[in-house]
Amino acid sequence: MRLIFIGPPGVGKGTQAKRICDHFGILHLSTGDILREEISQNSLVGQAAKQVIDKGELVPDNVLLDIMAIRLSQNDCKKGYCLDGFPRTIPQAEGLEHILRNLQQSIDAVISIDANEKELIKRLVLRGNNSGRTDDTSDVAKQRLDVYWKQTAPLIEFYSRRNLLQSINGVGEIPDITQQILNGLS
Ligand code: AMP
Repeated sequence: MRLIFIGPPGVGKGTQAKRICDHFGILHLSTGDILREEISQNSLVGQAAKQVIDKGELVPDNVLLDIMAIRLSQNDCKKGYCLDGFPRTIPQAEGLEHILRNLQQSIDAVISIDANEKELIKRLVLRGNNSGRTDDTSDVAKQRLDVYWKQTAPLIEFYSRRNLLQSINGVGEIPDITQQILNGLS
């Protein structure tokens, strides 16, 4: 099973992606986590990414595509995976298609989770208080939502055309939302 999770920041996409991965025993791959790991190691990629992440903007497509081309070809990905936070732009989605063609793999479904903007900002600021993430302050949260609508939301149409899209309402109890996703996958 290979899945993509799309959704605005704060919608609970990471939480749901992890729960679905546990259910199927597949790998959870979050590009946000991968980039934060690069930052904590103070690598060259990490140093460049930190500037961009703290402004609420997107790390350049070629950086993400290079990281994911390597990551997805590793052995542990053979059992399947949930992509959480990647792709985030149309060029990334096109690049992913190219990577998957080379690996002779395909995506089974794209889960798009949504919620209204007020709820999302409330959740992000609350998460910032608890997680210590430097990009969860109110101003950066608004910027990240703006970036989502402009650069990532077009992927909904992109995957809908490929008949892969499953749309889910992200407001509700966590287990109920997981169940809705599972129902759509069966
Ligand atoms: P996330 O943990 O998914 O909310 O990602 C945190 C931040 O990492 C984002 O706001 C972006 O700055 C960066 N990031 C994560 N994934 C990507 C991606 N696929 N493309 C570009 N930037 C990304």
